[in-house]
Amino acid sequence: MLTNIEARKETRRGSVLETVQAAFLLGVVIFGTCLFGIYTRPLDFLANVWPANAVMLGLLLRFPKTATPLGWLGATAGFIAADLMTGSPLDKALILTGANLAGIGGAYTVLRMYSREAIQLQTPESVPQLISAIGFGACLAGFVGAVANPVLFGGSAVGGWTFWFVTEFANYVAILPVILTARLFSFPRGVSTKRLAYLGLPVLSLVLSCFASFQIGGPGAVAFPVPALLWAAIVYPRFVTVLLTSVFSFWSLIALSTNLFDRVVGVSEEGALVSMRLGVSLITLAPLMLASAMAKQKDLIAQLSHLARHDPLSSLLNRRSFGEEAQKLARYCAKQCHPYSALMLDIDHFKSINDRFGHATGDQVISIAAAKISACLRSGDIIGRVGGEEFAILLPKCTREQALEVAERIRRAFAQGHVTPDGGIPISVTVSVGLASSDDGSADVETLMEEADKALYRAKHLGRNRSEIHDQEPGWRSA
Ligand code: GH3
Ligand code: MG
Ligand code: MG
Repeated sequence: MLTNIEARKETRRGSVLETVQAAFLLGVVIFGTCLFGIYTRPLDFLANVWPANAVMLGLLLRFPKTATPLGWLGATAGFIAADLMTGSPLDKALILTGANLAGIGGAYTVLRMYSREAIQLQTPESVPQLISAIGFGACLAGFVGAVANPVLFGGSAVGGWTFWFVTEFANYVAILPVILTARLFSFPRGVSTKRLAYLGLPVLSLVLSCFASFQIGGPGAVAFPVPALLWAAIVYPRFVTVLLTSVFSFWSLIALSTNLFDRVVGVSEEGALVSMRLGVSLITLAPLMLASAMAKQKDLIAQLSHLARHDPLSSLLNRRSFGEEAQKLARYCAKQCHPYSALMLDIDHFKSINDRFGHATGDQVISIAAAKISACLRSGDIIGRVGGEEFAILLPKCTREQALEVAERIRRAFAQGHVTPDGGIPISVTVSVGLASSDDGSADVETLMEEADKALYRAKHLGRNRSEIHDQEPGWRSA
């Protein structure tokens, strides 16, 4: 067996290894993304599409294991190696890498001050906060650019600052939100064809409006896709909107670098190119802002709807929601001719538990009982708290015999154990259950619940801690 010191050493060795691995991977990713950027770099000037900086910033924020001095060193090596390998002299490689790292460092320092929720574009303030961070980073990169432009490209310092700032800003806007919000996305299942067609409309409008911007052209063409992107922000989950927005701005940047926009607004001059890049970035911020505001709103609506549908003490469905869910389930069973059963369950002598241990302990008993009953059910069954210490259960695809087994399982779970609230005193609690079934699913669910309630009343009458079936002679004793 390992001693404490050996175990600690082992853990430290493990974490050092992880740090080295993370730094190496970051370096490799940066090297790859730099090569991609260099490949799209037109006429030896700054790359239009330069994903490396946004990718590094995103990875530092999402995977803090990469945000170590070694991680920064790995990334620096990746930047320099890519430049040297593609024929840049060492001084140029060092200056360009300095600009990249200054931008990333600046934006990273600002973004770390914001909440996780804000960084993942989940609050209405997310986009302004994102702008402040990448604006600061792009500004710092611009200062390096102001020095680099005269030295490397024979241009002016102001021109260098402007071009660097805009290019950095545009690339961060296009790529960073995707990395910050990326998640596995599951395609919605069980959606009607009509709804699916509706869900496809924003994407279709986006494609059509992009096509129109090239066909019609003119100075307004770049704004054509805006309504489609805003529509997407309202209809789709956040990440899908972010992805579409990124594809739009990425594609616009590529279009700019290949002069595809030439016939639209004549962007061959440097000034127009800068204006165009900034324009595209600022356009894409609008759907991002809407998507992040919608994310917060959707989240609040989901919370409110949960509160409206559930009982706060037991976290089970409340009476009204249980009724609605039970109706839906019963309709499904009737359609499929499946049997289904209803149980009504009531804690025995609950008043005396309240009297002996106090109301707060009584509340805890209700909450523990709810969890205990739920643990005896299958995932398709539904349960609700329909009264103080009274629960209703609907068991789809469940015959009378099977429902009786469930009822007895629950009853025994209470009779053979104790409920132990926070105070630590075990309290013996028993329950009575009433049961009613529909063999072919045709019975009305409200009638079935009333019948289960009558059976419960009989169980109470016959001495409690027992299960009774509606329409069945009370000749057996289950205790
Ligand atoms: P029986 O075996 O016939 O069901 O007897 P009982 O005492 O359980 O039934 P009764 O209906 O007389 O009493 C139920 C008690 O449950 C009365 C009420 O004060 C209490 N109660 C109702 N809701 C709550 C609640 O949310 N918390 C607590 N602690 N008590 C509640
Ligand atoms: Mg009771
Ligand atoms: Mg009661």
